[in-house]
Parts: sequence; structure tokens; C-alpha cells
Amino acid sequence: MDAPYAKLETLEPGIARVLAHNPSAFTYYGTQTYLVGERELAVIDPGPDLPEHLDALEKAVGGRPVVAVMCTHTHRDHSPAARPLAIRTGAPIVGCAPLSLETVGPRADASFDGDYAADRVLEDGDSVQVDGESLTAVATPGHTSNHLCFAFGDALFTGDHVMGWSTTVVVPPDGDMAAYMQSLDKLRRRDDRVYYPAHGQPVDNPQQYVRHLVGHRMQREKQILSLVKERARAIPDIVANAYPGLDSRLLTAAGGSVLAHLLDLERRGLVEPQGDEWTAA
Ligand SMILES: [Zn+2]
Repeated sequence: MDAPYAKLETLEPGIARVLAHNPSAFTYYGTQTYLVGERELAVIDPGPDLPEHLDALEKAVGGRPVVAVMCTHTHRDHSPAARPLAIRTGAPIVGCAPLSLETVGPRADASFDGDYAADRVLEDGDSVQVDGESLTAVATPGHTSNHLCFAFGDALFTGDHVMGWSTTVVVPPDGDMAAYMQSLDKLRRRDDRVYYPAHGQPVDNPQQYVRHLVGHRMQREKQILSLVKERARAIPDIVANAYPGLDSRLLTAAGGSVLAHLLDLERRGLVEPQGDEWTAA
């Protein structure tokens, strides 16, 4: 693939990125690590622990002081390079809370980085200073319960909450559709000029884009509700009807997303489970 792996790309003064070589059906070309600042730097979403990526980041830092290595959340494509980069640069790990899901049982999820540990956890509204400017945490649970976006001036680093190439994946047990919708609403009430997502191109029409994402989810919810109103259905049956022609690598994620919608609808008293099937309440 002709993507700019291991290259430093400047997006605007004080904001640059390096693409990690971890392409997949979920990461697009890979994870984009952002460098914020000029005299000193914060590094957002260091990415997977790949030597080539860490070397590229260290070269991009070029000996400047790194005030923080920051993670939006702890999926394995975002946080594993945090510790090795912190060691290479002497920076603290600052950002989202650690989240340890079980390895077996109802809260098991292999996509989480269980080794992540932060030197300082940011709550909503907390910030770090870079070049005398604030880089501020905006709590945006939904994709994961520990997800943060980071605001710098009128730019917002959106991690996986809002991506530039596809809608995000919201999969229980940790992913929560109601929280995700609230977090989209939180962005809708902001006035950001541009989003820099961890995957995909910058979003330069944030308001319009978020409205589109909200509309997309509401459409999906309506579709799921009408399918279970016709008759009781199991999740694979709903997926086959709601996502015709879906790439088979994405079937599990689509099933998880349908489950996230169903759990949200159940909380609102609109559907109920019957064994393996779901029906209108
Ligand atoms: Zn993620």
C-alpha cells in the first residue's frame, strides 16, 4: 500500500503526524500518531509497539522535550508504544485511565492493552501545557468507556470517537451506544474547526460530519427496531438484513454494534431478549 509509513507529515504549524504500519479492516492504513507543539511536544496515540514506528517518532521528536505521551484510549492499536516511547523520551504518560477487562468471561475483550499504565490520568477538562497552550481532555466514552478526545486551540484530536474514513465501532461489553451518542452530542455543542482522527483524513466540516454520524446511528436503530418488530430475530439474522454484502472480516464487529443498539433499546424499554433472539417489547 502506498501510504506514508514512518514519515513525518506536517498538517499545520504545531501539528504533525506519523502513520504506523498496522493497516487492517479496523485501522484503515494504520494508526496516526500526532505530534503537537514546536519548541516542546505532546505525542498523542503513540500506537502499536513497532520498532520502525518508535524510531520514526523518536526521529520526529528530534531531541525536543516531550511533555506528555498521551493516549485517547487503550485499544492495542493506540497505547502499546506509550511505555517504550516514554522511556526513549523521558516523558510521562498522561491521558486516559487504564482499563483492565477480564481475559475470560462476560467482560473479556482481546482488543484491550492490559499493560497500559498512566503516570497521570486526565479527567474531563484537565489539561497539559504545550508551548504555553492548553491541550485539554474532553471525555468521550462510547467507543470505549475510557475514551478521551484532546482539544488544542480550535483543533480536536478525536482518537476513535470520530474517525475520518468510517463510523467507529461500538461493541459491548465496554462499548456503549447510549454513551457514544451522548459523546457525539457533546462534540455537536463544541465549535471545533477541524478534527484529527487516529484513522483517516482530517475532518474539516466537524459540525456537518457529526450530524451525519448521529443521523446514521438513528437510521440504524430504526432499522433494527423494525426488524425485531416483524418477528423475533437473533443477531446474525439482524446483521444479514441490516448490513447486506458486508466484508466478512467485519461481521463480528457488526454483530457487536447491533448488540450495542439492542442493549440501548432494551434500557429504553423498546426491545427485550428471548433466549438468543430479540423481540419488540
Ligand atoms: Zn479503538
